[in-house]
Amino acid sequence: MKITDIKTHIMQVPLVRPFRISLGVITHAVSCLVEMETDSGITGYGEGSPGPLITGENLEGTVASIRVLREKLIGMDPRDIEAVYTVMNRSIAYAGAAKAAIDIACHDIMGKAWGLPLYKVLGGLSNSIETDMTVGIDEPEVMAARAKAHVEAGFNVIKTKVGADITCDLARVKAIREAVGGDVKIRLDANQGWHAKEAVALLDRLNEYDIELVEQPVPRYDFEGLKYVTSHSSVPVMADESCWDSKDALKLVSERAVDYINIKLMKCGGLYEAKKIVNIAEAAGVEVMLGCMAEESGIAINAAAALGAALKNITRADLDASFSLSQLPYEGGFTVENTRHLILSEEPGLGLKGLREEMLQ
Ligand code: MG
Repeated sequence: MKITDIKTHIMQVPLVRPFRISLGVITHAVSCLVEMETDSGITGYGEGSPGPLITGENLEGTVASIRVLREKLIGMDPRDIEAVYTVMNRSIAYAGAAKAAIDIACHDIMGKAWGLPLYKVLGGLSNSIETDMTVGIDEPEVMAARAKAHVEAGFNVIKTKVGADITCDLARVKAIREAVGGDVKIRLDANQGWHAKEAVALLDRLNEYDIELVEQPVPRYDFEGLKYVTSHSSVPVMADESCWDSKDALKLVSERAVDYINIKLMKCGGLYEAKKIVNIAEAAGVEVMLGCMAEESGIAINAAAALGAALKNITRADLDASFSLSQLPYEGGFTVENTRHLILSEEPGLGLKGLREEMLQ
């Protein structure tokens, strides 16, 4: 089987509501969707969604990178993922979103060629994963009302963004805990918004409201600060922006700098690299969460959910971005049960039935 073409489609759709994190505001889902065509007649779908606030990538660069990779990959077998990855890494450094788009399409084709749903290709532990729901930064009473509505709809883990202005973080979390009651897990994401010592002091107070964990309390480059918070705070710490790839993961776990790792396909460049992170973390006794970019359309979330269902060391999921879209740009894929359970398709690969052309540019 040989790749004959990699077509790119741009999707830019407003979110149901703007989403504020400590680094800025996200208003649209912005993504490059790919169709990888082969000489066997099988087409694979993928998605590269640049998160400018997180990774520094943008849509134009992602599309340009995919087009560069297209020239190198035509003629290769998409099932030879090690060979595909070797060519991608020798062509462009970083470019996680572009590589993820290619990687997801290759995995979709593998599943279709082998007649297996992707979660079975990747490990097959289960066919479902439970996601949390995230509340963006806003006034405390607004965040509390949104969290309460999500819990009433069926979510039982609320992830809340903090870190934009430290004076209000306590009021936000207090309001959310009072609104959702004691049985709901609350996890925090500071998106690099605090310094190490203020993070430790604040987390001690925030933990009065029973915090499950905190993501990325300090700037991504502050390795010592991350380690300091992990060793001094009663709240478990998860690396997100500090963990791009398997090399970062190895350093973080070997120096006991974090308690958990958040993998995103758009940071690490796809399922192939994500599996390496999961394995390194598992060997160190560190559990992993699968996250997503707020800008994603849902195709990459189908891939991430398949990985999360397939592997036992992925114990948490923050795969809620497609809930922020009023319509998805594809047919098929996972179904949602009881609001929070993503049930993977039993169709081969990602189980997508095609793209909605009217949503694409
Ligand atoms: Mg995060």
